[in-house]
Amino acid sequence: MTSSQIRQQFLDFFQSKGHLIVPSAPLVAKNDPTLLFNNSGMAQFKDFFLGNGTPPSKRIADTQKCLRVSGKHNDLEDVGFDTYHHTMFEMLGNWSFGDYFKQEALTWSWELLTEVFKLPKDRIYVSVFEGDKKDGVPFDQEAFDIWKAIVGEDRIIYGNKKDNFWEMGETGPCGPCSEIHIDLRNQDEVDTIPGKSLVNADHPQVVEIWNNVFMQFERMADGSLVPLPNKHVDTGMGFERLCMAIQGKQSNYDTDVFQGTIQYIAAKSGKNYGDEKWADIAMRVIADHIRAIAFTIADGQLPSNNKAGYVIRRILRRAVRYGYTYLDFKEPFLHLLIPGLAQQFKGVFDELISQEAFVAKVIYEEEVSFLRTLSSGLVRLDKLMEDCSGKILSGDEVFELNDTYGFPVDLTALIAREKGLDIDEPGFNAALKAQKERSRKDAGASAEDWVIVNEGDEVSFIGYDSNETDTQVLKYQKI
Ligand code: ATP
Ligand code: MG
Ligand code: MG
Ligand code: MG
Repeated sequence: MTSSQIRQQFLDFFQSKGHLIVPSAPLVAKNDPTLLFNNSGMAQFKDFFLGNGTPPSKRIADTQKCLRVSGKHNDLEDVGFDTYHHTMFEMLGNWSFGDYFKQEALTWSWELLTEVFKLPKDRIYVSVFEGDKKDGVPFDQEAFDIWKAIVGEDRIIYGNKKDNFWEMGETGPCGPCSEIHIDLRNQDEVDTIPGKSLVNADHPQVVEIWNNVFMQFERMADGSLVPLPNKHVDTGMGFERLCMAIQGKQSNYDTDVFQGTIQYIAAKSGKNYGDEKWADIAMRVIADHIRAIAFTIADGQLPSNNKAGYVIRRILRRAVRYGYTYLDFKEPFLHLLIPGLAQQFKGVFDELISQEAFVAKVIYEEEVSFLRTLSSGLVRLDKLMEDCSGKILSGDEVFELNDTYGFPVDLTALIAREKGLDIDEPGFNAALKAQKERSRKDAGASAEDWVIVNEGDEVSFIGYDSNETDTQVLKYQKI
């Protein structure tokens, strides 16, 4: 089954169960000061759970573009090194707003996975919330009983508050979760493990694919829990992980979601995917990062020097450096991946194909700009690492790389880590602050360059801004 068919089958299945299928919200979180990027399927429905506003249907399903690179969920450092955490991923979800509850949600998830997708039943494990006496939250007996009838007691894992209890904040709606994990290990490896709770083996090939959250309590200001009059279901399933399971792979990158991009990168670099550790990591990182970069720009957030825009610029520079160092890409290359990606998501997220040339141009300009200083920055960093007497690069050194060569601090940290070194981040922050104060004094108010583009706006690249202290700043304006 191809990934497109898998996505469609998910949506068709929930449509057949009376769900309204809605589009993904943009990656860039609008009207939510607590979030830079949408990081879960439920983000766009938050208000409905809080009782503000009425959903268009009591049953909704969709695929939501998610980005986990900042704040509470930050998976950036795992990307490329494990096989199932991405920066941008699709979260398939179904919701009940005061309609069905645990019985339907869990039964349907089992039906979809085993009857529609035909995943082997003996490879699936589930978790239920074990309860937390100290916190006054009970064991989820209801989910346990439902699962016991479906999978049997020996496939149920007990999860703690950290993994199996969801809360919106200090107060507000909350409730237990039930996760579904799949064991993707080779059979001979599984056979050697005694006992039944294989999920606890914490093996990289035993992967969480689906989380069912049951909002059934409200946490009051005094810490007590009150049952909600309307109970809700919020589920999220990692699309790329689901494809890995269905397509019988052990890595998300081996599915058709990523293979097109990876093979393109491989051909371009003259290397085979699977031959060399660091070249492989670089190919995975690039195949991952380009999606985050492309869809964020397509959703209206341009790379810039602060907030959401800087997150994107940082991800882009990481990708450029991986290509430069491990795949020998000395010329701009990321922008070449856009046409393939736009085709791949045609009919799913059309915002990319409709702005293909623009997105490619923005990325190209960013690449040109960073490549201009990358090689001398790397030479400088190598020298600093060689001369480093302890195990830590000083704040001033990290600042110099940032200020003169445009190396985001996390990029310097990443490269240093590859050599077993650390960086002095507080020292860097102090140096940055001191510089900002100096330039404020010198130049009066500094210009704001965080540009949010709304749907339908056209934007043109207007060149480099020489007034900024960071010489890397590219400027765009609405036209
Ligand atoms: P994990 O424990 O693997 O980090 P999670 O518990 O943080 O996942 P949830 O917040 O429960 O994830 O999100 C629901 C589903 O989204 C997960 O079960 C997983 O399939 C998927 N998912 C979460 N984070 C990522 C990611 N960074 N890349 C790809 N899929 C993800
Ligand atoms: Mg996580
Ligand atoms: Mg988890
Ligand atoms: Mg989870």
